[in-house]
Amino acid sequence: PRQFFVGGNLKMNPTNLQAKVALVKNLNDAQLDPATEVVIAPPSLYLLPLKDMLRKDAKVAAQNCYFKDAGAFTGEISPSQLVDAGIPYVLLGHSERRTLFHEDSELVATKTRAALDKGLSVILCIGETLAQREAGETAKVNESQLKPVINLLKESDWSKIVIAYEPVWAIGTGKVATPQQAQDTQKDIRTYLSTAVSPAVAESTRIIYGGSVNGANCKELATLPDVDGFLVGGASLKPEFVDIVNSNK
Ligand code: 13P
Repeated sequence: PRQFFVGGNLKMNPTNLQAKVALVKNLNDAQLDPATEVVIAPPSLYLLPLKDMLRKDAKVAAQNCYFKDAGAFTGEISPSQLVDAGIPYVLLGHSERRTLFHEDSELVATKTRAALDKGLSVILCIGETLAQREAGETAKVNESQLKPVINLLKESDWSKIVIAYEPVWAIGTGKVATPQQAQDTQKDIRTYLSTAVSPAVAESTRIIYGGSVNGANCKELATLPDVDGFLVGGASLKPEFVDIVNSNK
């Protein structure tokens, strides 16, 4: 059985440490399902203070990293630096990185390889736009985003990958995927992993859903066989994040 995974992607929020302290306090004071893996991804500036404040059964993740180890790359953070700081996870390929910062799937694959080489675990984000879904290209798009990563990974690397399926049209829009859409798409992703990597990897790799998940819609999505958890944006800043962590059947 795959361990249920709930990530909170704080994105570039909130704008002060005090608000983060409140968020951490809410999480620290809550009763969390001990069977669920909880990972919080703050802006990089706050990784270390947050890691220190946060309960020890929750982890932190960077929201991005570069693929080089060190050097003249102004504004970037390397996998080695994250490992040195005791950060276990990094988010890669988020749709905001792909769209606003022009990261393509080849770059995301190179970063994923570099992160794994240094010992990080990776939350790898994929997903289609509304136009692509309406054109019937959802599976094709997800596969094209996964393929460059698959090409660079060994079978044993997959134990350190969580795939976050985040349809772009559902991110920050309040338009959550229907249970049918989430299940069908994530089943397709698992089937693709089975043929492109191996049945064992398809069976063991967590595929989580992201896009307008909240305290009210998480329960039903959590019952779906191919939804192994959530990556939460907006609702990770609110007390209802606890309900999402505790939504596993
Ligand atoms: P929202 O939950 O705000 O839709 O964001 C989802 C997301 O992008 C998580 O990475």
